[in-house]
Amino acid sequence: MKAVLLLGDGMADEPLAELGGLTPLEYAETPNMDRVAREGRTGLVATVPDGFDAGSDVANLGLLGYDPNEYYTGRGPLEAASMGVELGADDVAYRCNLVTVRDGVMADFSAGHITSAEGAALLGALQPAVPSVRVVPGISYRNLLVVPGGAGGRGTPPHDIVGEPIGAYLPDGPDRDLLLACMAAAEEVFAGHPVNRARVAAGKVPATGIWPWSGGRRPALPTFAERFGGTGGMISAVDLLNGIARYAGLEVIAVPGATGYLDTDYQGKARAALAALDRLDFVYCHVEAPDEAGHMGSVEEKVRAIERVDGMLGTILDGFDGVVAVLPDHATPIRLRTHTRQPVPVAVRGLGTDGTRRFSEREAEKGDLGRLEATALLPLLLGRT
Ligand SMILES: [Zn+2]
Repeated sequence: MKAVLLLGDGMADEPLAELGGLTPLEYAETPNMDRVAREGRTGLVATVPDGFDAGSDVANLGLLGYDPNEYYTGRGPLEAASMGVELGADDVAYRCNLVTVRDGVMADFSAGHITSAEGAALLGALQPAVPSVRVVPGISYRNLLVVPGGAGGRGTPPHDIVGEPIGAYLPDGPDRDLLLACMAAAEEVFAGHPVNRARVAAGKVPATGIWPWSGGRRPALPTFAERFGGTGGMISAVDLLNGIARYAGLEVIAVPGATGYLDTDYQGKARAALAALDRLDFVYCHVEAPDEAGHMGSVEEKVRAIERVDGMLGTILDGFDGVVAVLPDHATPIRLRTHTRQPVPVAVRGLGTDGTRRFSEREAEKGDLGRLEATALLPLLLGRT
């Protein structure tokens, strides 16, 4: 049986007073998610193992069947794979955000969702000032810093410290001095750079610096074919997910118009998933938008993003009769504007029914899938339990 997993990044949330005590998932019009719950089975999935931060990297690695305790080496090396950056055995890759720091406070973890071209120009200007490392432009604010012979370290995700003074969160560990020197160089090179002058003139925030975090060496993942004996694909606009996919031997399926942001081409992704399922056994279809809305703290945008994910699900349900699962990787509660580690709801069509009526955080507690570990989900969907 073929299977598709539709992942709405950060969809899960908490009951909100402004939604009359409902969560965004409960409040949003989600006829298709409810249909999967009604025609299928539901439960909760624990996606963040003890000792790990609640990141999309850890959560999605687990959902693809790789226990983070065994396989996780950091977000940087996963994104390196996605960007086509070959890491040598001694290379340590850090995720490197372009950020806006104002008066020592993390004002914006994305430098105003700076464009890829602007980011590339800034990092190109920075490279000569930091010859002992490689800075690699990526998509928007999501770039890479490679330290040959580095030691790695988790660091602090900049989206977790928006509005806070950065002093307590600066890099620590063996690579500390080198990273701090790179950050200082970036500050100097970026100040007054034409890209930033143009951004400020246009009323946008400047990129004041870089923020390296989650560095590590490349992981060694057994491939999807080695584990399940079939073929699989990944649809995502996010480097991280595509990086995991490459290490996992999944086909990375590019969809024009997929932005990784709120304006992504939702239905284009759903159609691409259907087309891929014609030739592949499994497709992992990831949508970043609900998570972005959660980080923005925007209830309306989050509800809208969830409804659009639901629309994608409708297209998939209409065009595919195999196993369909829908779930978030983690919660990104509006109130906290960052990820949390509680188990997330899942609904699965094609493996029987359990009498659930709706898809939500609270309904899923009653589902007969019970509480699954993330690594158990894919074997379940593929019938390999
Ligand atoms: Zn997030």
